Amino acid sequence: MSAISETVSGEGPELYRLASLQRTRGEHTVLDIGGRKVGGESFALIAGPCTVESREQTIETARAVRDAGATMLRGGAYKPRTSPYAFQGLGQEGLRLLAEAKAQTGLPVVTELIDLGDIEAVLEVADVVQVGARNMQNYPLLAEVGRAGKPVLLKRGLSSTLDELLMAAEYILKEGNGDVMLCERGIRTFESSYRFTLDLMAVPVLKERSHLPVIVDPSHAAGRRDLVTPLSLAAAAVGADGLIVEVHPDPDAAICDGPQQLRADEFAEYTQAVERAAALSGKVLAGREPVLA
Ligand code: PEP
Ligand code: MN
Repeated sequence: MSAISETVSGEGPELYRLASLQRTRGEHTVLDIGGRKVGGESFALIAGPCTVESREQTIETARAVRDAGATMLRGGAYKPRTSPYAFQGLGQEGLRLLAEAKAQTGLPVVTELIDLGDIEAVLEVADVVQVGARNMQNYPLLAEVGRAGKPVLLKRGLSSTLDELLMAAEYILKEGNGDVMLCERGIRTFESSYRFTLDLMAVPVLKERSHLPVIVDPSHAAGRRDLVTPLSLAAAAVGADGLIVEVHPDPDAAICDGPQQLRADEFAEYTQAVERAAALSGKVLAGREPVLA
């Protein structure tokens, strides 16, 4: 069949046939990231700093989130910053520190790839490659990440529809990589009282359209620490398969996103609250015993 006769137009599952729930006849996919399940009854808690700043900050955060029950470590070595004058990440040194944090805690690492020129270095350290909101429609990047075969956390673009997110995921799946998590991280709306609008309806609607696990990022949506816990609980209760959340030992001194990062010494309390909310939708923090809602 020629490529042109494969061309389809319109809307809906035909445009994201591999990501669609019909593809798996209504079965939701459960991923296995270094032994941590994501999806089904398993709730993923991905936690760590916005960016890797130093050895001490990275290791201290990794230990704190691991001890509290996080299932994966997040941390950016390459940062997509709105201003070209803002800190752009430690790059290779940041990746090295993430590898050290993983060796010390056993937590799988989630880190962002921005530039295809860094793909080999990122793949060496990442257990999950994050494609950020600003790159959701960078189709050559999506295809390359698809060919790389590593699990991917794909964030929804700032002004993207759910169909556009699913078609972006399709670019990865089409290359033979089925390990994709979708991530709602807040969208731009007319509302200016907070940074972005966390679209929690996206969770049940994505799960109705697609078999892929859905993760929620309350940190970047809110931009404010005090909103992160209530939004996390709502996300868990509405059926998300996990959260990705920013944590720092001293947020006031953080190089980026300080106001939204949870304090590392308060993270255990946060985790307990999240576990109770996840239990409302029948989910258990990966690797933990069920708790009563
Ligand atoms: C991040 O998670 O570090 C990040 C930059 O998020 P987003 O792409 O959602 O803005
Ligand atoms: Mn951040």
